[in-house]
Amino acid sequence: MASVLVVEDDPVIRAALIEVLTGHGYAVKTAHQGFEALREVTQCPPDIVVLDLGLPDLDGLDVLRMIRGISRVPVLVATARDDDTETIRLLNAGADDYMVKPFSGGQLAARLAAVLRRSGPAEDAVDRQPVVQVGELRIDPRARTAHLAGRELALTRREFDLLAYLAAHADQVMSRKRILAEVWQQPYLEDQTVDVHLSALRKKLGEKASDPRYLHTVRGIGIKLVTSLS
Ligand code: CA
Repeated sequence: MASVLVVEDDPVIRAALIEVLTGHGYAVKTAHQGFEALREVTQCPPDIVVLDLGLPDLDGLDVLRMIRGISRVPVLVATARDDDTETIRLLNAGADDYMVKPFSGGQLAARLAAVLRRSGPAEDAVDRQPVVQVGELRIDPRARTAHLAGRELALTRREFDLLAYLAAHADQVMSRKRILAEVWQQPYLEDQTVDVHLSALRKKLGEKASDPRYLHTVRGIGIKLVTSLS
């Protein structure tokens, strides 16, 4: 499933874009402002970005240039202007394609698919993740294996994704909402979803919530994978 980052400050348009894109099978993340978009592109790179040019904090064109400065992610720009100067400006700034507002959901989906076809398979974020060794726990994101004291753990796909995500953010408390957004790519799920998988993971790691070794719950905040022995 390809992931799309929608950068749009207007809540009505944003909701419409989420509906269209989700309906076409994309995993949708959103940013309301330019800085937020840049942070997303850096921390959790999407396969493609849909960028509205009129943002409250930064000029959309500057956001586009800044994205280009840090990433090769394809960017589809939504602009209100339809003229030659604008087209040239956008393409020169690094847009892969653009749409003039208002546009239909069908056009958006078709253009996204075309840009993704041209750009080829996105560089997989997993390929950049190093093996994490914490005490006796070893997590290899590329091989999708986790070992405890040399013994391979039998994890479900989600359990592994959760463990690898926490390992990639070791010693940081990750909120359940963020985990749902980035591991499940569905921020609207119940927090309990995370807890169910966390509990199963703990069992396989041979630890208890009341006496954790690796997976610590920080009450009211989130979960962290702890790398230092206590
Ligand atoms: Ca706007």
